[in-house]
This record gives sequence, structure tokens and C-alpha cells, in this order.
Amino acid sequence: MSEISLKGVRKSFGQTEVVHGVDLEIASGEFCVFVGPSGCGKSTLLRMIAGLEDISAGSVSIDGDMVNEVEPSARGLSMVFQSYALYPHMSVRDNMSFGLRMTGTPKAEVARRVTEAARILQLEPLLARKPSQLSGGQRQRVAIGRAIVRQPKAFLFDEPLSNLDAELRVAMRVEIAKLHQDLKSTMIYVTHDQVEAMTLADRIVVLRAGRIEQVGTPVELYSDPANLFVAGFIGSPR
Ligand code: ADP
Ligand code: MG
Repeated sequence: MSEISLKGVRKSFGQTEVVHGVDLEIASGEFCVFVGPSGCGKSTLLRMIAGLEDISAGSVSIDGDMVNEVEPSARGLSMVFQSYALYPHMSVRDNMSFGLRMTGTPKAEVARRVTEAARILQLEPLLARKPSQLSGGQRQRVAIGRAIVRQPKAFLFDEPLSNLDAELRVAMRVEIAKLHQDLKSTMIYVTHDQVEAMTLADRIVVLRAGRIEQVGTPVELYSDPANLFVAGFIGSPR
């Protein structure tokens, strides 16, 4: 579990600033959803939190440690992307254990964590399969399993369900909610899907053009939107 703090975070690519000073405190164990239209800076913000992108100004800290002063592998964060690139030649089991084995974790401990993650995600019958023998939803579960075995302080999800069809998205949404209940880890979840935001979040951060428009619980945003943009975004499912 982990507290994440953003202070005056800005990001420029060349001369163009795309994130314009974001302040945000994410509590330990919170499920925080970043929502906003395409291009508003959700991924950039998440990547700065992950330490995958330089911070142009301001700071990001995790449990009081500045992310840019900590080695990426020591940050204790696991990121799950929409393009769940699995190794095609490896079994599900090996896909889930590979990263952990690289860190020098003892074999028995790796096996124990993979078994536990497979149980949580109901992947046990699929451990010997190759990615090509899995459905899209199953592949995404393997990608989440890979994140779980690292026992991160926090999970960062970047539109993890956007490549799935509507029915699978609903099923996976339920699984992610359950995962949060089980692990009680801090989760930051990026989506442009209002329904996902409303159903998953403890708190929603509504972004627009690199700025926070409003932060609140789903009920607060729905019943008391700060402006027409938030009202339109939260009110109108697509
Ligand atoms: P979102 O995830 O909300 O769709 P992004 O964070 O990907 O938005 O992008 C925010 C803005 O930053 C966009 O205008 C995008 O074009 C720009 N951007 C993102 N990554 C880069 C990059 N590597 N180089 C230049 N511009 C970028
Ligand atoms: Mg994005």
C-alpha cells in the first residue's frame, strides 16, 4: 500500500507544455481513476508517476520518496497497458514469472506467487498454454497476473480494457474491482470510459487539456459537477 503525491507536476515535449501543473494526493489503498478525453494527458501523467517519463517541473513522490531519485525497479510500481505484450513463445506460467525471476527472486518464491496470482485471476487451468491459445480477456488477465506477482506498492493501469469487446470489458471490470478488494493496493486507473470510471473509482480525477477540472467521488461528480465539461463528461455515457 502506498501514498502517492503530485506537486505542481508539469510536462513539456519540446516547446509544448501538455501537463500544466497538477497537484494531487492519492491515499494508500485508494482506487483513483483518471478520466478525460483523448490527448488530455492521462498517459503522460501516469508515465511520470511510473518514472517512465521525465518530470519537466514539480515532483512526484511515493511514500515520501521522489520517483525520479529511485531506480525504476525499486519504485515498487507495476504498470498494465492496453497492449498487453506477452512473450508469444512462453507459456502463461513463464510469462508471469519471467520478470520476477530476472530480479533474482528464489525459484520457490516465484512459483508460490505465480500460483497465488493464477488463483486470484482464475488462470490455473491455463498456466501451460501459449498466449496464442488464449482469448483477449485471458491475455489481459495474464498481463495483470504479471503485475501482481511483483507485489507492487501500487498498480498503474493505462486503459487496460480498451482493446476488449464490450462484454469482456464488463467482466474484466468486475475482476479488477475484486482484485482491488482482495489486494487493497493503491491503484491508479486511466480510462476515457465514464462507466468504468463511475463503477471502479473511490475518487475520480477529471482531466482536460493537461489540467485537473475536478476531483471527487463518483457521487460528488455526478451530483455536483464543477462545470459543464465535467457534467457532460460524467453525465453522457458513450
Ligand atoms: P491521453 O493519454 O490522455 O490520450 P497523452 O498523455 O498520451 O494523452 O498525450 C497528451 C498530449 O501530449 C497529447 O497532445 C500528445 O500528442 C502529447 N504527447 C504525448 N506523448 C508525446 C511525445 N512523446 N512527444 C510529443 N508529444 C507527446
Ligand atoms: Mg493515453
